[in-house]
Amino acid sequence: MVSRLRDSGYIRSQRVADAMMVVPRHLFLPPEARENAYVDSPLHIGEGQTISAPHMVAIMAEALDLGPGQRVLEVGGGSGYHAAVMAELVRPGGMVYTIERIPPLAEMARKNLMEAGYSSLVEVIEGDGTMGLPEHAPYDRISVAAAAPDVPEPLKQQLADEGRMLVPVGGSWHQDLVMVMRSKGRFRIENLGGCIFVPLIGEHGHKP
Ligand code: SAH
Repeated sequence: MVSRLRDSGYIRSQRVADAMMVVPRHLFLPPEARENAYVDSPLHIGEGQTISAPHMVAIMAEALDLGPGQRVLEVGGGSGYHAAVMAELVRPGGMVYTIERIPPLAEMARKNLMEAGYSSLVEVIEGDGTMGLPEHAPYDRISVAAAAPDVPEPLKQQLADEGRMLVPVGGSWHQDLVMVMRSKGRFRIENLGGCIFVPLIGEHGHKP
């Protein structure tokens, strides 16, 4: 899987290749989906949600430029897989907090992360991630794994100076992956192109 993602240009750095090589994606899937764990495709994880396709995890990891010691917030924990890849990229010294709004998925992510050996590097929090997670802010990097109508304001406020956030913005038909960069209190926005995610549902997201 990793060499194919490399050949297609999604993985550009050795660090992202190494991280995706060591995280066992099959451990984050329900048993019936495991045979397809290393196919580049989103897969169902229950509750109408999906684990992101490996190429999207690679694109986001490369664009976020994750490094040792960083504090990362993920919104939309799902299976916990993407959080584990980011945890590899911020070790040593870094930490990933991931918020999931559907309680059985948060529970599943915790179990998956424990089985894969990431429970001390990733904390799973149940709740509405559009509000961010003020108790551990500011974050060097924020990764949103569900599509928002607009960049959620609380997430902008919880981004550290010189921090970066990736968030898919749009409705069900068209979404763009947006990079928000904060520098000296100012925000710069860059559009990285079209993408498809499940909707971000919450106070600063889509209405349920
Ligand atoms: N990163 C995940 C992909 C998850 S799909 C993985 O690697 O498996 C997106 C997830 O976002 C879904 O599980 C959905 O329940 C969750 N979600 C949607 N709105 C949310 C919100 N406001 N706060 C937290 N999670 C949310």
